[in-house]
Amino acid sequence: MQTFEPVAEFGEAVVALDDDAAAIRSGLRAAGIGLFEYVLGASHLRVSARCAELLDRPGSHELPRSYVASLLHPDELDMLRAAAMRTAEGNGRAVVVHRVQLPGGQVRWLRTWLLAQHDARGRVTRWSGASELAEGAPETWSATRIATLDGAGLADVATRLQLATAAAGIGIHDFDIASGSIRWDARVREIWGVGPDEPVTYGTFMSGLHPGDLDRVDAAVRGSLDPQGDGTFSCEYRVVHRATRVVRWVHTTGRVTFTDGKAVRMVGTVQDISERKRLYDAVEAVQSRLQMALDASSTGLWSWDPLTDQMLWSPETHRILGVPEGVPTPTGTDFVAMIHPEDQAAAELEVELAVEQRRPYECEFRLIRPDGSLVWIAERGQAIRDESDGVLRVTGTVTNVTQRRRDEEAVRRGEERLRLALEAARAGAWDWDVRANEVLWSPEMFELFGIEHRTSPLTFAEFAATIDPRDLPAVEHAVAEALAGRTAQYRTEFRVIHPDGSCRWLTGLGKVQPGPDGRPLRMYGLNLDITAYKQLEEALQRADRQKDEFLAMLSHELRNPLAPIRTVARILESPLLDEAQIAWARQVIQRQVHHLALLLDDLLDVARITQGKLEIQRTPVTLQAVLEPAIEAVQPLLVERHHRLVLDLPPGPVEFRADPLRLSQVVSNLLANAAKYTNPGGRVELRARAEADGLVIEVVDNGVGIPADALPHIFGLFAQVDATRALSGGGLGVGLALVRGLLELHGGRVEAESDGPGCGSTFRAILPWSPDESVGEPPGPPSDAAPTAPLRVLVVDDNSDAADALGVLLQLAGHEVWVEHGGAEALRRAQAVTFDAAVIDIGMPDMDGYELARRLRELPAGRTMLLVALTGWGQASDKTRAAEAGFDEHLTKPVDTPELQAVLRLRQGGAPGPAPR
Ligand code: ADP
Repeated sequence: MQTFEPVAEFGEAVVALDDDAAAIRSGLRAAGIGLFEYVLGASHLRVSARCAELLDRPGSHELPRSYVASLLHPDELDMLRAAAMRTAEGNGRAVVVHRVQLPGGQVRWLRTWLLAQHDARGRVTRWSGASELAEGAPETWSATRIATLDGAGLADVATRLQLATAAAGIGIHDFDIASGSIRWDARVREIWGVGPDEPVTYGTFMSGLHPGDLDRVDAAVRGSLDPQGDGTFSCEYRVVHRATRVVRWVHTTGRVTFTDGKAVRMVGTVQDISERKRLYDAVEAVQSRLQMALDASSTGLWSWDPLTDQMLWSPETHRILGVPEGVPTPTGTDFVAMIHPEDQAAAELEVELAVEQRRPYECEFRLIRPDGSLVWIAERGQAIRDESDGVLRVTGTVTNVTQRRRDEEAVRRGEERLRLALEAARAGAWDWDVRANEVLWSPEMFELFGIEHRTSPLTFAEFAATIDPRDLPAVEHAVAEALAGRTAQYRTEFRVIHPDGSCRWLTGLGKVQPGPDGRPLRMYGLNLDITAYKQLEEALQRADRQKDEFLAMLSHELRNPLAPIRTVARILESPLLDEAQIAWARQVIQRQVHHLALLLDDLLDVARITQGKLEIQRTPVTLQAVLEPAIEAVQPLLVERHHRLVLDLPPGPVEFRADPLRLSQVVSNLLANAAKYTNPGGRVELRARAEADGLVIEVVDNGVGIPADALPHIFGLFAQVDATRALSGGGLGVGLALVRGLLELHGGRVEAESDGPGCGSTFRAILPWSPDESVGEPPGPPSDAAPTAPLRVLVVDDNSDAADALGVLLQLAGHEVWVEHGGAEALRRAQAVTFDAAVIDIGMPDMDGYELARRLRELPAGRTMLLVALTGWGQASDKTRAAEAGFDEHLTKPVDTPELQAVLRLRQGGAPGPAPR
């Protein structure tokens, strides 16, 4: 073992020791040596743990200068001061044995090495030193003796130093710069693989270095030798063992001594740190892996000291919470303040509870970053406790879970939207676990299928039981096909019967999800209520059918009048026709053309109404002006079918605003239908009355009636009730559509009632009053058509239908009418009642019109009576004959009402009757 000049070697080596190197510290500690350092002018000394022990302040790292000074023995103060001075001025080192008086009164002998350090200009900047117990030091040692310690004492110190350095695994080097020679102790030589006696130079040192570190180390050595620098050397590098080529990491320290501004010597330590490096690398690898993991999961670390409220954050935590690393880390209070106000209380409570219950916690909250942005944070944490069970700190992690939260929110919203969509579409969703035969339904499904709501699963059979038996086989087939994998997706339409008996059309969409074995695992899908579509579809189909029927009917209807026209046209070609036959032919053609024209008018009107092109012209009008033309138009039909028309009209005149032509069309259509759909000899009643909400015109018949299921449809275009079609004797299913359209144009409506087939029908047209009308308003000025005063009129015709019809017309015109069917009855009536006028048919079996006229004129009242003749023949000879018989006027059948009116008005106007003869 190499020995050193004890005092100098030891002091410098100790001072050169890196105080931070734990191994060195523990080595020195094992050797019982404490270190201290005093920077000139500081209030405290830095002391190692052992030094603090020696000075009775275990656990301290710093001791006040005044405290240390107070320990020094008064008798030795001068000596110590002198030693310090010597180190400052001389070679910079001293060793003294001295006493310290501990606060408890105990006296301790210490051996202390003292070293002054200078700056480049030679001024002292600090003292460093080492102390150990000078055990067994004689009480009697005096300061002077101490100053002249003998060689034996020093040898003891050297041994101790070697022990200390060995314990710490530290070697010592001493580089004489001027000569270039280096002294290495055994430990250093061993690292380099240099023999014990082999001389060592700077070249030896450099030749052992790992090539990768050469330049760096050389630069560091040169730097420390620079007189302008602080003269310290500290460097970690690799050394390759000369023989074994084993590579080791060493940490070398050194302190350079300058003389006259020139570096002369460097002494220091060499420590094998391979193991530490290895551990460090391993730790670093683990740490970097951990860091990577934390980075990958966007996880930050934090720790909070409840005592000081201070927090420590990892860089990732700064990043996540949006607080730059430069600024002071927020305190615990600051951090809580960043939490969204709505989430604060819950988060704080969770942490408090977890700490109290000694368990880790996990919570999520929103946090508002300093830049105002909002993030979702998942925080995990746990309290760490000290020996006395107090909470030392709480530490944990934070993760940014904003994206996950957003995704969850998106899913939630998506579900909400689906729910809304299902609701809006009147749809329900289902999911059938095929193997367990469990069907899960969304709430809407129960409503669709009319099953009481429940949360437990249903079976397929329960579902099937709701389906209309007519549709069940098709549904089962579709499901079976899908389950067998023959269809990817199925679609069915079926009816379900609700407990109340009502029926709904549903459509079902389903898809099969196969399991890993390829067999169906589950089936899921949607059901939609398509009742409304189905109804529309049916309506469309019906309309389509009606259109076809209409076309067939139309061609029939057009052909009907064309046939007689064609026949008559051919007859007209004959040269042998007399005048009467030609007149007859003309009438046939006129009648048929008129019929065709009516048909086409109706069609055109309906077309105009549906296209919105028909306009009505409202004018003030009387009820009579509307009803009269209508009755007149259907009169021939009523007569032909031997119906009795009964009127039930309000007593006084009723005035209102309407389009008289169009309203007449409405009434005549209703009357014509009543006539058509009532077996011959029936009764048709025309009623009118003023009600609060409008004028009501009713046509009531005792005819074939209308089945209940047809009632809602009869007002549709081309609608006809099958059962009555044969009866109609022509018709296109246009009339009622026209009635409805015309009334709607008037702001009114039409209603139909019937107790069913054979029970007759009632049609009711309701016409609201115009704003300026009201019930009971005084009647307006009489229209031209209205008589100034009613006349008493006698109607005589053996054709009772014709007589009745004429009677109705005159009644409508406001006259008081008596109808008689034969001359004798008429004469009798005229003897009892005084008439203003009589309308008399000429051709009657018992007494003809001429005879009756002559007899009437013989009666006292008959002399001024207005007598009107009705004949089928309008020839001049007939007119002369009538005049001779006493008739005032002569009209040809069929009677034209306006003409008759005009004639009657002559009498009303007070015009003198023909001169009595
Ligand atoms: P059309 O009479 O040309 O067939 P409408 O539109 O006038 O057409 O009438 C439609 C259908 O309503 C008729 O085919 C008939 O079946 C029924 N209908 C109309 N009026 C009556 C009524 N008074 N009594 C019975 N059925 C009627």
